[in-house]
Amino acid sequence: MAPTVEFLGGAGTVTGSKFLVESDGGKLLVDCGLYQGLKALRLRNWERLPVDPASIDWVVLTHGHIDHTGYLPRLVKDGFKGQIYATRATADLLKILLPDSGHLQEEEAAYHNKRGTSKHRPARPLYTAEEGVEAAGLVKGIAYRERLDLAPGLGVTFKRAGHILGSATVTVEIGTGGDRRRVVFSGDLGRYGAPMLPDPMPIEDADYVVVESTYGDRRHDPDPIPQQLERVIAGAIARGGAIIVPAFAIGRTQELMYHLSGLEKAGRLPRLPAYVDSPMAIEATEIYCAHPEDFEGDMRTMTMTRNCPLHCGEFRLARSPDESRAINEVKGPVLIISASGMVTGGRVLHHLRQRLPDPRTTVLLVGYQAIGTRGRSLQEGAKAVRIFGGEVPVRAHVETVHGLSAHADADGLLRWLGTAARRPARAFVVHGDAGPAEALAGKIRGALGWEAIVPAYRDRVTID
Ligand SMILES: [Zn+2]
Repeated sequence: MAPTVEFLGGAGTVTGSKFLVESDGGKLLVDCGLYQGLKALRLRNWERLPVDPASIDWVVLTHGHIDHTGYLPRLVKDGFKGQIYATRATADLLKILLPDSGHLQEEEAAYHNKRGTSKHRPARPLYTAEEGVEAAGLVKGIAYRERLDLAPGLGVTFKRAGHILGSATVTVEIGTGGDRRRVVFSGDLGRYGAPMLPDPMPIEDADYVVVESTYGDRRHDPDPIPQQLERVIAGAIARGGAIIVPAFAIGRTQELMYHLSGLEKAGRLPRLPAYVDSPMAIEATEIYCAHPEDFEGDMRTMTMTRNCPLHCGEFRLARSPDESRAINEVKGPVLIISASGMVTGGRVLHHLRQRLPDPRTTVLLVGYQAIGTRGRSLQEGAKAVRIFGGEVPVRAHVETVHGLSAHADADGLLRWLGTAARRPARAFVVHGDAGPAEALAGKIRGALGWEAIVPAYRDRVTID
């Protein structure tokens, strides 16, 4: 049979990434993401997967983020018995990410049971923290550029994607000799010239490219990030209030720590009391420092000598709930970095409930805010948001620092596509809302002269 790719998620939206590659070799699922954001999408997490999990032979994960991995424990629970591969750092990160995701699922179920707000009684979690631990334990770590042979005529290779620690593009090679086809999945692609992680590796040879488009219609703020941060933080200090940064525990938090340490060392900002209030962010930072293979230059040398710049900053790490609550008592300018990045959960909710009504507070958004999230409402100037079932008035300043995103902008995506050794038969534009995805497809046609389409959920294409 001719190989096919079916788009089971991340099609027309930025979450739920799942791409099923079927060939004579077997069934390979590239990414196994959870749907997040809009309820209509989240409900898909509860529908039966269009493919029987027991029939899937392998799962390959591009990186640790839950929108690419968070369905894995459910897949295992529903009968998946195959092998799971990721880069070494991703395998380590999943040991904290998947249990945490299970924990959030359990919390949500408990919340619904307490309030009777689910039509299911009792409401059950999609999977538990324990099932998250179990799934993470099945992931095998593979080195970058090391070809992994899954079956005769079926191999995959990870290459650095520069998005977060461990992130990779995945080249799937199907068939042999003249029938060989290469499908390259971008996963999430990082920025070129980012301070910590090296640039994405080139595509090289590809017959088809499946490319993300989170920022397919945008160009990141050309203002250097340290300057933007300096401006926002100086303003917040002048008001004398707290600066709350909802940040993804993995990636954004470490990059922020890196920049803030740099600004303090350069004397651009006074030394503020600064807290990382997220046990996961603290653990993730340790994992960053344990994977020199993900870095180049200074970061590589420093991580290899256990002298990582992330540890030089004067960050106080709040591991326990008591340490977290103690931050409530801190008055005056204080920096609080806490998950989750789109304000959908986590300890940041407690800080926001306490400090959003205070006009001296600054909320600093540093990443993409998906439609339907509290982060997006704040970004769009909502006068109140619901937190723990109550209305919380928003009198705080809400600022966005652009370009700190771990995603390439349209120019970056085109630059990466331009590293293909020859023109692929087609590009499939995924992992974007409709506007950005169509915009990027248009740019690919215009700037590169390639055929580009935006597949819909459950579209299936032949790789010929
Ligand atoms: Zn990601």
